[in-house]
Amino acid sequence: MRNNAVKVCEKLDKNGFKAFFVGGCVRDTILRQPIHDIDIATNAKPEDIQRIFPNHIDTGLKHGTVTVKMNKDFYEVTTFRIDGEYEDGRHPDEVIFVDDVTKDLARRDFTINAMAYDPVTDTMCDPFSGRLDIANKTISCVGSAKSRFMEDPLRVLRAMRFAIKLGFDINPATKLAMHDKEVLTHLQNCISKERITDELRKMLTCGKPIHDIFMEFADVVAVILPELAPCINAPHNSPWHRHDIYEHIIYVVDFCDTTKFEIKLAALLHDIGKPNCRIVDENDSTVNHFKGHPAESVILTKKTFENDLKISNKEKELVLNLIKEHDREVNVKPNLIRRFVSNYDLDFIHDWLILKAADIKDHVCAPGKEEKWNDLLNRFEQFKTNLATVELEESALKLSDLEVNGNDVIEILDIKPGPVVGKILNALFEDVLDEKLSNNREELLAAIKVKGEMM
Ligand code: ATP
Ligand code: MG
Repeated sequence: MRNNAVKVCEKLDKNGFKAFFVGGCVRDTILRQPIHDIDIATNAKPEDIQRIFPNHIDTGLKHGTVTVKMNKDFYEVTTFRIDGEYEDGRHPDEVIFVDDVTKDLARRDFTINAMAYDPVTDTMCDPFSGRLDIANKTISCVGSAKSRFMEDPLRVLRAMRFAIKLGFDINPATKLAMHDKEVLTHLQNCISKERITDELRKMLTCGKPIHDIFMEFADVVAVILPELAPCINAPHNSPWHRHDIYEHIIYVVDFCDTTKFEIKLAALLHDIGKPNCRIVDENDSTVNHFKGHPAESVILTKKTFENDLKISNKEKELVLNLIKEHDREVNVKPNLIRRFVSNYDLDFIHDWLILKAADIKDHVCAPGKEEKWNDLLNRFEQFKTNLATVELEESALKLSDLEVNGNDVIEILDIKPGPVVGKILNALFEDVLDEKLSNNREELLAAIKVKGEMM
């Protein structure tokens, strides 16, 4: 991939233009991290790029971007530009093409993202000391932090994302501006759900712990996910918990041993119903309970989906089901496991186990409740063992696994297709789940007759 990118720069150079690798690929090369794409910046105007590379696609001409093909690879080549005033906090009102790479780098968000590498002469252009910040593991805005965040408040989330992903600290002046009320109001009012969701998704799925950044920037989290705000600093007042509700939530996110977005998001929202469900223990006024909180979390999560995030319906459904079931009793009886699987599917149960394990991990044994605690841990282990057994069985875990189908019912009972057929199949399926019948064709065919007589 790199070789062809170098060829693009060489071709621009031969035509009398300057060309650089810019942005993430320069940063990640210095960090010795894998590079997923190489962006190229040049002083050639879009029409020059189009002329020099007849094999091109006009991707974002308005912003000066042309995608060019070199052998098998595609690269975005963008003309050096500065952004005009940011009026709506979203799109630069106008882009102005410039001849100087330093000016192009100056519009970029963080010093670590504002370096350019010239592969033709093998030289670095690093006017804002991005290399020094990488060496010091620091994220700093290019120029005045507050003005940069006011120009585009999404950068607040980008700073959090890079800090999480790279394990970097954020420079004090940059931090201060991220907590600025005006900046946060601007983030709340001007940034689209799509852009916010995109950053949140990257933070949750980068495989690194979010704890430190989400604790320090809880005020930012409260802005992008208002339904989570009442959890911040809300005590559990429970002997089963060592963290307040918000910090517990954050630990559960990190303890979910996966990078699957839906599970991480479910973890982030699984307990948001708790503040509304708080009740004081009858015998001990220092202790609280949160009965019914999963259902309340589901209600608030739906609100979050409506107002704050943009995710697919399929993702929504999985997140909501995980939240709904997160506090489900861990019952190890095979027939109940089969029924749980049949209500969803096996993939769901495995996702649920990840969330459940994480939730358990951030509980503590209440003093004097060792027996109850150990019982839960044992049941959780037993559940996994029994689930593995259930998965290996020939048994049916969904209706279509049955060794008979609707046609068998129609033939044996000599009836017309209709609701009765479904009813009988369901009744058979229930019996198989409960091990009253085995999923054996002969046995099921005989059972159809019996069920038919009873209907
Ligand atoms: P990655 O693709 O690994 O997430 P990246 O640094 O390539 O990281 P992109 O979002 O692809 O990030 O953006 C490419 C470059 O464009 C950045 O490195 C940065 O220089 C610049 N950039 C992107 N978004 C912004 C923004 N909102 N404000 C200022 N500069 C930005
Ligand atoms: Mg990129």
